[in-house]
Amino acid sequence: MPEQKTLIMKFGGTSVGSAEALVSAIQIIRDAKKDWDRVVVVTSAMSGVTNLLLDSAASASHGKVDSLPAAESALREKHFAAADALIKNEKLREQTKAEINALILSLVDLCKAIAVLGEASPRAMDAVASLGERMSVYLLGAVVNDAGIKAKAIVSTEFVVTNAHYQNAHPDFKATTEKTRGLLNPLMDEGIIPITTGFIGATPEGAITTLGRGGSDYSAAIIGAVLPADDVWIWTDVDGVMTTDPRIVPEAVTLPEINYSEIAELAYYGAKVLHPKTIRPVLDAGIGLRICNTFNPSHPGTRLIASIKSNGKVEGKVIKAVTAIRKQRLITIEGRGMLGVPGVAARAFGAVASTGTSVPLITQASSEQSICFAVPSELAPTVLSSLEKAFAVEIEDDDIDRVWATEDVSIITVVGAGMRHTPGVSGRVFSKLGNDGVNVLAIAQGSSEVSISLVVDAVDTENAVKALHELIVAS
Ligand code: ADP
Ligand code: ASP
Ligand code: MG
Repeated sequence: MPEQKTLIMKFGGTSVGSAEALVSAIQIIRDAKKDWDRVVVVTSAMSGVTNLLLDSAASASHGKVDSLPAAESALREKHFAAADALIKNEKLREQTKAEINALILSLVDLCKAIAVLGEASPRAMDAVASLGERMSVYLLGAVVNDAGIKAKAIVSTEFVVTNAHYQNAHPDFKATTEKTRGLLNPLMDEGIIPITTGFIGATPEGAITTLGRGGSDYSAAIIGAVLPADDVWIWTDVDGVMTTDPRIVPEAVTLPEINYSEIAELAYYGAKVLHPKTIRPVLDAGIGLRICNTFNPSHPGTRLIASIKSNGKVEGKVIKAVTAIRKQRLITIEGRGMLGVPGVAARAFGAVASTGTSVPLITQASSEQSICFAVPSELAPTVLSSLEKAFAVEIEDDDIDRVWATEDVSIITVVGAGMRHTPGVSGRVFSKLGNDGVNVLAIAQGSSEVSISLVVDAVDTENAVKALHELIVAS
């Protein structure tokens, strides 16, 4: 049999967020079917739905269920409007609406149970969060079928096997490979497009898990890696990976190509356009990755390329993009008694790790009189008390003067593989910020030299991003 070419296409929330968006998605699927032997579609929840579901569960955990009827009708309205507009076959339309309605009713049941318990466990939160993708997969499956394209909706809990780390589950690639191939290959052999849910999986025992917010991109990469596919295309609401978030700088432009280390830094440091975990499976399996715009499908978008050109030079500008992660706090442990004491950093990060917090940025002054690192704002109080407990003796003995957290700050990162070979980039970055009146609170440069990160007050976020974006434009 000749080699079969397989494409995974993931549609984000806005790309399936309305009847108009779904019309574009259908056309994109129809076109892909012409060029590829096998196509798998992965869908997010309709835009805004996951937030609405999680907010409902959070309110329920405080005993509040009075906003449930409004949430129910918003969900019905959003999904039913699209179903009414696009599914001409009455039986299919009514069946789809009934499936969606059953999921909405289970939201009500779950929230009432959470309200009675007075708390929402991570497992319960995942059961609630999963409803968004489960609703959209039936909708998309039905509209694609109604448009005359053979497709079947399958919920990915059937084949994406994960551990029980709720809200941030890790896939078991071996089990997932077996199940995914077993379920999807027979469909594709018959020319049927599997349409499946992003974001969700299940433990071997069948409990629903999620891969973390924004995790549908990761789902597409997992499915791509295990089948394996030739290409993964992420359909979103912008023309690919851009020089910065176009919501902050409308003049941001698309990067036609980006290498793996650059996209990894960008995604990790806040470019929401791609979930950071997407890159590894795609890279390991040697799969192509493209990011493109559902609302401008003829635009080529962004392609991931191998890192360095054969002559060792990196194409394009030295600084390629700027990102921001908001709502962080800087935690500092300081005291003259820390000087030269071995193991302070290890104990500090051990205490942070014990709270389940990951640290996106660390700096330490060479005097060893302070260690400073960033954590997400909402976790700062927990991290502080864990550190105070771990260093109780040193604090008592005045070897450590204090452990404290700043107000909200943002981490701003400039990314570009060419920085490695170009002296003076950090000089330009800091002079530009100085000239534009942005105060820098802390600095970190990764040893890979693909990025420089700096910390600014929350109020300076937009100015810092705009200032550094001007450096890209000027270079
Ligand atoms: P989807 O629902 O399709 O997954 P997301 O909202 O998760 O979409 O990601 C797309 C959004 O990411 C864009 O609308 C844009 O505002 C934001 N974004 C942040 N940084 C960048 C960047 N460097 N390039 C492109 N988009 C970015
Ligand atoms: N719907 C999920 C979220 O909002 C996953 C995703 O969109 O990628 O986080
Ligand atoms: Mg996303």
